[in-house]
Amino acid sequence: TAKIAARSVDVFYGNNHAIKDVNVDIDDKTVTAFIGPSGCGKSTFLRCLNRMNDTIDIARIEGDILLDGEDIYDKRVDPVQLRARVGMVFQKPNPFPKSIYDNVAYGPRIHGMTKNRSELDDVVEASLRRAALWDEVKDRLKESGTGMSGGQQQRLCIARAVATQPEVLLMDEPCSALDPIATAQIEELIDELRQNFCVVIVTHSMQQAARVSQKTAFFHLGDLVEYGDTE
Ligand code: ADP
Ligand code: ADP
Repeated sequence: TAKIAARSVDVFYGNNHAIKDVNVDIDDKTVTAFIGPSGCGKSTFLRCLNRMNDTIDIARIEGDILLDGEDIYDKRVDPVQLRARVGMVFQKPNPFPKSIYDNVAYGPRIHGMTKNRSELDDVVEASLRRAALWDEVKDRLKESGTGMSGGQQQRLCIARAVATQPEVLLMDEPCSALDPIATAQIEELIDELRQNFCVVIVTHSMQQAARVSQKTAFFHLGDLVEYGDTE
């Protein structure tokens, strides 16, 4: 069964029909790439999967999106709680102007996930390890998260996203603002994240989709026109 299932999803920004009748099943423990030209709706559709579209973009959505069979647009679902289960990483690394530690501890704190400091310390370490950043920052956890290189900042954002132990990790062009070496590091990391998460990545690069994904969904003018094995 699909980790995420979209059923007849339409998204409107006012009169702009940005996503048109999209149906797709997204697998767990798989990297799925959303690809297509600029403005085709990749990012809009991604932002449906953690409800940033209706709570932040103020888009109107029709149809259903099911996470493990549960409708995430049901009135009983709190979008803030949902985002602990469906993490997001953005194009431009956007760590909070806080310490490295407090960036990663942010989600577990607001969701009350740890009982004491030592449990929180463990979550922070595990999350930084999962983002392949621990060895670089373990001796300077109190330094600012915004003082590092772009690639380190993006890995910090990945650590922050995985700290709430989400099932799904959404990434909106996570390498577009990075140099080639940092891009290669993040791509390698994405392949490791697949072991534990359902990963969905927006990219405009066929080459990147070929490198990191097993499934590809190709969007064109709001339609999902092709979906299948990346190969
Ligand atoms: P892509 O990610 O493929 O570049 P987008 O999802 O950003 O495409 O955009 C799809 C369409 O929705 C475009 O016509 C764009 O102008 C419009 N759009 C995207 N975000 C917003 C927004 N926050 N408010 C209004 N219109 C938007
Ligand atoms: P610090 O720089 O020490 O992290 P904070 O003001 O962010 O300072 O937090 C104060 C203290 O409260 C922390 O050192 C920690 O012991 C405790 N604390 C805050 N949130 C949590 C939490 N979610 N789980 C466990 N301990 C917490």
